[in-house]
Amino acid sequence: MKRRDFIYGLSCFLLGAGLYKTYSLYKYNNGYNHNNIQEEDIECVFREFTCATSFHCNLNCRNCDCYAPLAKKRYTLYKDFAKDMEKIKKLAPDRNMNISFLGGEPTINPELTKLLKKARSLWPDSSLMILSNGVILDKFKDDFWKDIKETNTDFHVTKYPINIDNKKYEEIALRNGVNIFYDIVKSNKLYDLNTHKVIDNNYHQDGFDWSKNILDLKGEQDYKKLFDTCPHRSIVTYARGNIYYCYVHAHIQAFCDYFKVKIPITKRDYIKIANVKDIKEIDEFLTTPKPLCRFCKQCHNTCYGGDPLEWGFSEYKISEWT
Ligand code: SF4
Ligand code: SF4
Repeated sequence: MKRRDFIYGLSCFLLGAGLYKTYSLYKYNNGYNHNNIQEEDIECVFREFTCATSFHCNLNCRNCDCYAPLAKKRYTLYKDFAKDMEKIKKLAPDRNMNISFLGGEPTINPELTKLLKKARSLWPDSSLMILSNGVILDKFKDDFWKDIKETNTDFHVTKYPINIDNKKYEEIALRNGVNIFYDIVKSNKLYDLNTHKVIDNNYHQDGFDWSKNILDLKGEQDYKKLFDTCPHRSIVTYARGNIYYCYVHAHIQAFCDYFKVKIPITKRDYIKIANVKDIKEIDEFLTTPKPLCRFCKQCHNTCYGGDPLEWGFSEYKISEWT
């Protein structure tokens, strides 16, 4: 899935679905001043998050926002998820938690439906959503789609310009009462999923522009200013038992490890759910600038108004992310 679409325009299926109107984004859009937080405001911060269901991916897009092509194989395990979610429920029994299951690619996590069932059992009225790249959906039988239906999970597929036969899985999904929502990546080329080669140069797929987050390896950005201006910090992410206020923070270690780059991730940049004693600790965490943003120049397309980028497979070059 592509995370940029969380925030902007109609290409943003999460906003389109009404899920990610988080408090922080609301405040961003309305001239938020973090020095003037009211108690009742803090109360409404942590209500939704994305779950890093898998850290790697079976597609490997160039510029992937969560560095999945660079990540080692890793899943969020049911036992860890269950423990952390129960803790959140205990800390905030009256809050609904809206959760989007992302990756990497969420459907490669063998425990995905167990995670959904756990989330639904804790929050019967919340919004649950999966964002998939669609690559292996034809492998799933009725049982999988029944679980999606029974947990009342919205199923979104980002349609990349690759030769996947959507009809193969759409039929089984529909038979089990699941409608698939598509978010389409704009492209004038069609690629082969296996060889990664262009198989049609005159292809036309209209949709949202591909984009990339640009890292500043020198760490010279003003992170306090970015806190006031960056809308992406509303994409609160659960990964490794921690809460991060941005997907870059949650996944940047994969970039550092792969390219042997040192970017310090300090204890100010995340909060460990197991150590939280009061839900306000998470609320407050989400309302303060994070030093890790020094290493981010934000998004090429949305924050700089840069030219649209072309989607393609990653060549594992550092320039894809810098
Ligand atoms: S590689 Fe592509 S499909 Fe996979 S997580 Fe990244 S953007 Fe999504
Ligand atoms: S500045 Fe970059 S790292 Fe910080 S919240 Fe925005 S997108 Fe995330």
